[in-house]
Amino acid sequence: MRIIDMLRKEAFSLSFEVFPPKTDASLDTVRKATVEVAALRPDFVSVTCGAGGAGGRLTLDIARNIRQETGVETLEHLTCIGAKRESVLAHLHTLRELGMENIMALRGDLPAGMDPADLNASPYPHAADLVREIRASGDFCVGAACYPEVHPESTDQRDDLRHLREKVEAGADFLTTQMFFDNNLLYNFLYKLRESGVTVPVLPGIMPITSANQVERARKLSGSFMPRRFTSLVDRFGSDPAAMKQAGIIYATDQIIDLFANGIRHVHVYTMNKPDVAAAIQRNLAPMLGSSL
Ligand code: FAD
Repeated sequence: MRIIDMLRKEAFSLSFEVFPPKTDASLDTVRKATVEVAALRPDFVSVTCGAGGAGGRLTLDIARNIRQETGVETLEHLTCIGAKRESVLAHLHTLRELGMENIMALRGDLPAGMDPADLNASPYPHAADLVREIRASGDFCVGAACYPEVHPESTDQRDDLRHLREKVEAGADFLTTQMFFDNNLLYNFLYKLRESGVTVPVLPGIMPITSANQVERARKLSGSFMPRRFTSLVDRFGSDPAAMKQAGIIYATDQIIDLFANGIRHVHVYTMNKPDVAAAIQRNLAPMLGSSL
């Protein structure tokens, strides 16, 4: 089923994100974890992929396995940085053959030392170029990324929003946000996005931080602002794994409840392949999920 059609429903719902293994060595373990995440029956499960080539084989493996084992819809991530046009077209052909209808179109991060100007030599300098290619290659539902706190390569938010609008005009059906820990940043972003004329659904992406180690990694990956309310929780509970896990689950749940209370109906959770964390958040929200209140 196309994700854009699922997003039209009125009820509150969640989708989950998982990631594939880096090598075949841990494929069985990751398959098991991702199937457990999917077995919670979110609206859909997105499967990330590494940058630097079209259509990760392991991304496809995990997505197919989830569909076969649980019947839950998947959203396959596809990055275009460093990708050749023939391999992108071949990958899109494979997805069509397999009946996979949903693709998250991403550029991928610049490899260390690469000058953004070098992108111009590529067939897909920006995610918008990949969106256009996917659109021209079949009846796919296409998602794309957005950044409530501005993409790190953008000079300012106006510039970022202008490029985001181009991505939507190229054919993105919906947007999923980078993680954020202060909902006010999301509300502010949504206001400016709508003012810039972008009307497609936006799925806020929530990252449950359940261990102290994750904090630095999340900060490096996203550059997200971490409010005092969040950092004091890490200061207080970071050295106690069980307490930190529970505090992180509750912080993420609280963010989602606030989003639901303020007009958002669908939230995407970065589960980090942790079925227990995904299940705990889902349990906390059980009286709301499936309800339009
Ligand atoms: P783009 O939309 O191309 O934007 C990148 C930068 O270029 C922005 O600063 C933008 O403003 C600018 N830009 C866009 N168009 C133009 C233009 N025409 N001229 C000049 N500048 C322009 N990475 C992975 O490797 N694998 C994943 O699975 C993955 N999943 C993700 C999921 C989500 C929800 C998010 C938010 C990010 C994900 N990423 C993933 C990270 C993403 O690949 C990086 O953030 C990357 O640096 C940018 O990708 P993008 O698709 O947003 O690129």
